[in-house]
Amino acid sequence: MPKADLHLHSNRSDGVLSPYEVVTQAAKRKLAAIALTDHDTVEGIPEALRAGEELGVRVVPGIEINTSSDNGELHILGYYIDHTDVGLINSLKELKGARMHRILAIIEKLNGLGLDITKEQVLSRAGKADTMGRPHVARVLIDKGFVSSIKEAFERYIGHGRPAYVERCKLMPREAIELIKGCGGVPVLAHPGILSSVSFIDLCIAKGIQGIEAFHSRHDENQATAFTELARRHNLIVTGGSDCHGVSKHDGDLLIGRFTVDIRAVDRLKETADRNKQELKREKHFRRGKNDGYNHKKS
Ligand code: AMP
Ligand code: ZN
Ligand code: FE
Ligand code: FE
Repeated sequence: MPKADLHLHSNRSDGVLSPYEVVTQAAKRKLAAIALTDHDTVEGIPEALRAGEELGVRVVPGIEINTSSDNGELHILGYYIDHTDVGLINSLKELKGARMHRILAIIEKLNGLGLDITKEQVLSRAGKADTMGRPHVARVLIDKGFVSSIKEAFERYIGHGRPAYVERCKLMPREAIELIKGCGGVPVLAHPGILSSVSFIDLCIAKGIQGIEAFHSRHDENQATAFTELARRHNLIVTGGSDCHGVSKHDGDLLIGRFTVDIRAVDRLKETADRNKQELKREKHFRRGKNDGYNHKKS
């Protein structure tokens, strides 16, 4: 059965490869489909779609939105979103601003700790990125010899609870789910195996999540099986992906294509997105009718 890797980042957020290079890698690995799921941005989608047509890989327009609730961070993936939707683009602009604000605060904290890095260095390292993330800061810390790996940068300085950590203003899970559904996309709970609390899963189900990412580079086989069963019990779509950021792991090879899901998941996502879009149309039509008033007057 052909395979799909439905969790991939490009250099439009904190990944390293361009959207075109991501699709090229997918074609090389004979993947039937991929989804580009950059953090809080849709900037890479047009390039990925064009590459998909050229290279014969089905490309799903996607996104990954980091949210926070009382118990910690939670990531929501959105599939078959309308990346041209004005409401979505406006909300993403706000998230982008909050990300930049946070990066500046992190740089200030690092400077206070005696680590001399500048905003210009981080921006230059971020290159074509539309949204800034901590990995961009980590890469500068490596360039300057303060740490030897991204992992070390998180563990010593910028990870949660570390001395240069700064909270970021994020959406609530419910808001991210609504944002994705509001542009006709399918919201899916990302990597539930690395959540700080399992109660998040029930919360997401209650808030309207339509799928669960059972296969992921940070899930072991038992977790993948357990999340697949959980999804089936709740009639949710099972998805999977590597979460490759374009950085070599596993014997120097990229993660892309190592954690996948059967292509039928893509068909289910598409059918569900089509239904969500129909539902949106009906709602809009209904609201318009209500606002006009005439079709609710009793004769
Ligand atoms: P941000 O979006 O700025 O909050 O940064 C989160 C991103 O940093 C994640 O999506 C990962 O790509 C990366 N990340 C988070 N924690 C770690 C870690 N401990 N080691 C390496 N990368 C990490
Ligand atoms: Zn990332
Ligand atoms: Fe994530
Ligand atoms: Fe991710």
